[in-house]
Amino acid sequence: MKIMVATKRVVDHNVKVRVKLDGTGVDLTNVKMSMNPFDEIAVEEAVRLKESGVADEVIAVSAGIAPCQETLRTALAIGADRAILVETDDDLQPLAVAKLLKALVERDRPDLIILGKQAIDDDSNQTGQMLSALCGLPQATFASEVTVADGKVTVTREVDGGAQTLALRLPAVITTDLRLNEPRYVTLPNIMRAKKKLLETLTPDELGVDVTPRLKTLKVAEPPRRSAGVKVPDVKTLVQKLKTEAKVL
Ligand code: AMP
Repeated sequence: MKIMVATKRVVDHNVKVRVKLDGTGVDLTNVKMSMNPFDEIAVEEAVRLKESGVADEVIAVSAGIAPCQETLRTALAIGADRAILVETDDDLQPLAVAKLLKALVERDRPDLIILGKQAIDDDSNQTGQMLSALCGLPQATFASEVTVADGKVTVTREVDGGAQTLALRLPAVITTDLRLNEPRYVTLPNIMRAKKKLLETLTPDELGVDVTPRLKTLKVAEPPRRSAGVKVPDVKTLVQKLKTEAKVL
C-alpha cells in the first residue's frame, strides 16, 4: 500500500506574526518557517502505518517555493521514503494545491492520501475536501484514529459533541486532527539519512495545472486590541459592573 502525505511550509507556530504596514499580508522577513503541525501528524501517521507493516511506501509532497525542500527533508527524516516538490513562486491557494495533488495522485496512484485538517497560516480547511471532490474519492476529515484493514480504512472523526466513525473504501482522502498522534522528535542520524533520499522536483506546468489565484486578498489587519481588565474587590461589585457597564445582565 502506498501513502501520499501533503506537507505545507508555514510560519512556525511559536512565531507571533506581524501584519505588513500596507495591509497586503503578513511580514515573513526573517521569520522561522516549519512544517504545518497538522502535516507533521499526517507524516507521523503514514510512517506508523509503514512501520506496522500496513504500508510499503510513504511519499511526502509539498507545493511552493524552493525552500519547501526543507519541509520535505523533515518529512523524510520522520520516515517518508521519497519526496516530491512542485516548485512555483506563485501564491498557491487551496484549489490550486488540490489540483496539483490530484495530478500527483493520478500519476503515482497512492491508496491513501493524508493531509492536515488545515494550514495554520491561511486556516482555510479546504484542500483535503477539494482534493477528494476533484478525484471522486471518499473523504474522512478531522481524523483522531485511523485503522487500515481488508482494503478499507476506518476513521474516527472529531465532530461537535463527540466522535463519528466512518469506513471508507480505498483509495481515500483523510485529514488529520490534533489527537491522532504525537509526532516523534526528528533525530540527527535520521536527518543525515534523509539527505540521501530521493527528492523529485516538478513544476505546475509539467503537471498541466494552472495555479492562477482565484481569490484576491483585499486587506489583512491585526485583530482589534483588547482593553485592559480591572480587578473588582467583591462579587457584589462584579455583578453591578456586569449590569451597568457591560450590560450583560
Ligand atoms: P488548507 O486547506 O490550506 O487549510 O490546508 C489543508 C492541508 O492541505 C494542509 O494541512 C496540507 O496538508 C495541505 N496543503 C495545503 N497547502 C499545501 C501546499 N502548498 N503544499 C502541500 N500541502 C499543502
